[in-house]
Amino acid sequence: MTITIRSTAAEMAQALADGTVTSVELTELHLDRIDAVDGAVHAFLHIDRDGALEQAAAADARRAAGETLSPLDGVPIAVKDVLATEGLPTTCGSKILEGWIPPYDATVVAKLKAAGLPIPGKTNMDEFAMGSSTEHSAYGPTHNPRDLDRIPGGSGGGSAAAVAAFEAPLAIGTDTGGSIRQPGAVTGTVGVKPTYGGVSRYGLVALANSLDRAGPVTRTVLDSALLHDVIGGHDPRDSTSIDRARPSFTDAAKAGATGDMTGVKIGVITELAGDGWQDGVMARFRESIDLLVKAGAEVVEVSCPSFVHAMAAYYLILPAEASSNLAKFDAMRYGLRVVPDGDPSAEDVMRASRDAGFGDEVKRRIILGTYALSSGYYDAYYGRAQKVRTLISRDFEAAFEQVDVLVSPTAPTTAFKLGEKLDDPIAMYLNDLATIPANPAGVPGISVPSGRPTRTGCPRASRSSPLRSRTSASTASAPRSRPCSRSSGAHRCSTGLPPFLRRRPDD
Ligand code: GLN
Repeated sequence: MTITIRSTAAEMAQALADGTVTSVELTELHLDRIDAVDGAVHAFLHIDRDGALEQAAAADARRAAGETLSPLDGVPIAVKDVLATEGLPTTCGSKILEGWIPPYDATVVAKLKAAGLPIPGKTNMDEFAMGSSTEHSAYGPTHNPRDLDRIPGGSGGGSAAAVAAFEAPLAIGTDTGGSIRQPGAVTGTVGVKPTYGGVSRYGLVALANSLDRAGPVTRTVLDSALLHDVIGGHDPRDSTSIDRARPSFTDAAKAGATGDMTGVKIGVITELAGDGWQDGVMARFRESIDLLVKAGAEVVEVSCPSFVHAMAAYYLILPAEASSNLAKFDAMRYGLRVVPDGDPSAEDVMRASRDAGFGDEVKRRIILGTYALSSGYYDAYYGRAQKVRTLISRDFEAAFEQVDVLVSPTAPTTAFKLGEKLDDPIAMYLNDLATIPANPAGVPGISVPSGRPTRTGCPRASRSSPLRSRTSASTASAPRSRPCSRSSGAHRCSTGLPPFLRRRPDD
C-alpha cells in the first residue's frame, strides 16, 4: 500500500507494520505538509520538528528491534494546546500563559508518548477553550481548510483543521460543551467526546472540571477507536477517573463496520430535530437516518424535555467553574507578569497582568461566573443550574430505557464566515445547543460527517450521537419501525433563539 498524507491512521499503522514506510518518513511527510499549508490554515501554535523526528527515529529503532509499544506506534499526532507538554510551550491560546513551559506531561500526553506516537506540534484553540470558532485565540484564528474564509469550529478548531488539512492523521481535542464535536461537524472530521471519567483530566488545563474531557479527532471512526484505546483508562492522578476494565473500542468499531444494524434502536431527540436548523443540515441528517433504517436499525422519536434548558444551565455552571479555575493566573506563578509604573502592590500587578493577559470572552465568563457564585445569587443561578443538570441526566437515563443511541445534527449551521458572529456572544453560544447536553450528563458523544449541504456550499454537516455505552448497540433488540420524519427548519445563523430555546421552564 502506498501511503500518502490522505491515508488513514490505521493504514499508516499497517504500512509501518509491513515495513513499507518508516515513522521518520511519515513524520517528515506531515511536517512538510505543515510547512506548505499552515501559513494559510494556522492550525498550529507551536511546531516541534526536532522532537517529533527524534520520537519517530526511536519508533523506527524499536520496530527494527522487533518491539512496538502500541498499534499506533510511529503514527504522528497533533495535541491541543490546552494539554501540558513537558518542555513544549502550553498557552491555552492565551497571552497570560505566553512563555510557560510545563515541567510535566498531561496523562493523555504521557500515554501518547508511552504508545510511541511522535508529537509534531500543539494546535490552536479559543482562549482557555471558550468559543465555537477559534477566533478567540490570542494568537489569531484558525481557518477552515475547506474554505479559508470560514471558521473551523471551536474551541478545538486547530486540531480539527490539522486533521482536515492532512497536517496530521490524528489529533487530540478537548470537549467541555462541544469543542471536539462541533469542529468535527464543520470540518468534516470525526470527533469523540469520551465518557466523563473515561480519559484522564490530569494535566488538562481546566476550563470546567465537571465537564471537561479530552478525546480523539480523526478522519475515520476506526482511527478514533484506535486512539481512544491509547488514551483511555484509569489514572490514579485524576480522582474522577473510572477505575474499571474497559472493552476494546477498536474491536467495537470493527464490529460496527459490518454495516448491519439489525436490533439497534436509535432515538431522534424531539427537542433537537425541530425548527432552528439550517435547511441543508436537516436534509443531510434525515438522509443519515434513512441510511440507518436501511442498515436495519429501528428509529423512533424520543423526547428529552430538559435539553431545552441545557444551554442556559451550562452557561452558569461553566463560567462558575471557570472563574474559580482562572483565579490561579495571578501573575505570580505562571506566564505573563505586567508591572505597572510606580510602586505597584501585588494586587496592582495582578490587575494589570489579567487585564493584558485575558481576552474579552474570558473576562466575560469570569464576571458571569463570579456573579453566579456570589452570596445571594448562588441559589438563584448556580444552584438552579445544578438542578437542571440533574434533570438532563434523568432525561438521558429515561431515553436509554427506550433506545440504545440518541442522534441529532451536531451543529445548527455549517461553517460560518470568520467574523460573522464574533461580536455576538449569544449567536456564538448557540452553535453548541446540540452538543452541550452530553457534557453535564457525562455521557459520551461522537460526531461523524454526513455530507455537504448543497444549497450553501459550506463545509459538512454531521450528526452527533450521545451514546449510552459502547456495547449497548449490539445488545438491544426490537422490531423495525418507520423513521421519524420532521418538517424542515428555517435557515438560522443570526442571534435569534430557535423556538425551543425561547420556551421558559414552566411553559
Ligand atoms: N463552545 C463552548 C463554549 O464556548 C464549548 C467549549 C468547549 O467545549 N471547550 O463553552
